[in-house]
Amino acid sequence: MNRTLVLNASYEPLAVISSRRALLLVLNGKAAMLVEGTSRIRSASMDVAEPDVVLLRQYIHVPRRTIPLTRRAVLEMYDYTCAYCFRPGNTLDHVVPRARGGTNTWDNVVVACLRCNNKKADRLLSELGWRLPFDLREPAPNTATLISKRWREPGWDEYTAPWKHFPAELAG
Ligand SMILES: [Zn+2]
Repeated sequence: MNRTLVLNASYEPLAVISSRRALLLVLNGKAAMLVEGTSRIRSASMDVAEPDVVLLRQYIHVPRRTIPLTRRAVLEMYDYTCAYCFRPGNTLDHVVPRARGGTNTWDNVVVACLRCNNKKADRLLSELGWRLPFDLREPAPNTATLISKRWREPGWDEYTAPWKHFPAELAG
């Protein structure tokens, strides 16, 4: 059975459900088809593209739980990708270094490769002329589940891993 990524009206990932269920949401007007899949769902009365990503028309309020900031969670959240050069990385970097008062929080921690991490050391991005091409924030409520690989589909990266879509030349 094929799966469909459901985005909240805010475009935050909300759930992964079967494509047939997702199609019902679209047919009932509860969701909009955002990305069509390659296969089709056929029945006696219809022949439609299977939804790959759908967007809920109404925002569903999800209680915001704090997602513990662990090394593994950060690495998986950013898919082991260096925030500065977009090559594979497996070290954590405090954007504002701890020695300079940076906090150990989701809005200050990224993945870095060893090379960038060494280059950056205890300096601020402004001192290096580097910048982050995405906003740092705590993962959306369901991202904790999302980042476990079972939910990952390459075609969903735009919604689940937006940092991957920035050009590498931004890096220092
Ligand atoms: Zn790097």
